[in-house]
Amino acid sequence: MSNAVITAVTNQKGGTGKTTTCENLGIGLAREGKKVLLIDADPQGSLTVALGFPNPDLISVTLSDLMMRVMQDEPAFPGEGVLHHPEGVDLIPANIMLAGTEAALVNAKSRETVLKQVLEGEKKNYDHILLDCMPSLGMLTINALAAADQVIIPVQANYLSAKGLEQLLNTISKVHQQINPKLKIEGIFLTMVDGQTNNAKEISRLIRDTYGGKIRVYDTEIPRSVRAAEISAEGKSIFLYDPKGKVAEGYRELTKEVMKNVQKARKHQLDQLR
Ligand code: ADP
Ligand code: MG
Repeated sequence: MSNAVITAVTNQKGGTGKTTTCENLGIGLAREGKKVLLIDADPQGSLTVALGFPNPDLISVTLSDLMMRVMQDEPAFPGEGVLHHPEGVDLIPANIMLAGTEAALVNAKSRETVLKQVLEGEKKNYDHILLDCMPSLGMLTINALAAADQVIIPVQANYLSAKGLEQLLNTISKVHQQINPKLKIEGIFLTMVDGQTNNAKEISRLIRDTYGGKIRVYDTEIPRSVRAAEISAEGKSIFLYDPKGKVAEGYRELTKEVMKNVQKARKHQLDQLR
């Protein structure tokens, strides 16, 4: 097994489907036989809750502890704090302590790369590491972008979400120039799409017209479904909760698109080495 592909699932807007995507893309990849580590990088701990740990504040070792350890130059122990989910993914959980850690980052040395150093010890054990980012462009998100190989951006199919993309793309571009030259945007996709309404179609077209030239906009669009909203308290993926539904189908397709692109990029790298 080679080093994991590290993907940040990012959007500074709240409620765009980041956490739902981390969970279901992560479990989707595990169902395809990949070894997957999910990182909850949001002090809200929503991913931790969604994966069946309803009281994140009671978990003794979280991402916060691992990041504090790096900041204090203490050794890390790979595998420490990693929880296992019955559907075959691992999780480094988060809770409210992470808010304090973000504040402490401001005065830390190498403050942009603390999370990257945490992941250094885990990379060789996984095919994919997915980072569930918080809804801001603060230090934690910068840390996620600094640690990532690629970014996936879920966008809600409404006008304001589409508009907020510009600021996010600027931040990604800055991190790419100043901190992490290998960072690339893997793709944008629409989620919570309301069936065949004209508005949803219009937003889809707007995003494809505005960004499709330079950024991949996935063919897959995830529909809005109350079944998807229900899983955030169920501790299981949409593949178990509503396997025949449209959202499961959507995340299955998204998983395939992401895997295909990773393979293509790997092949391209190999070709260039020859
Ligand atoms: P974020 O992490 O970006 O804040 P979430 O993944 O938590 O976004 O999603 C925001 C809310 O929308 C949650 O309550 C979630 O359960 C719900 N949700 C996510 N995806 C869908 C969907 N496809 N259809 C309906 N509701 C969804
Ligand atoms: Mg979230």
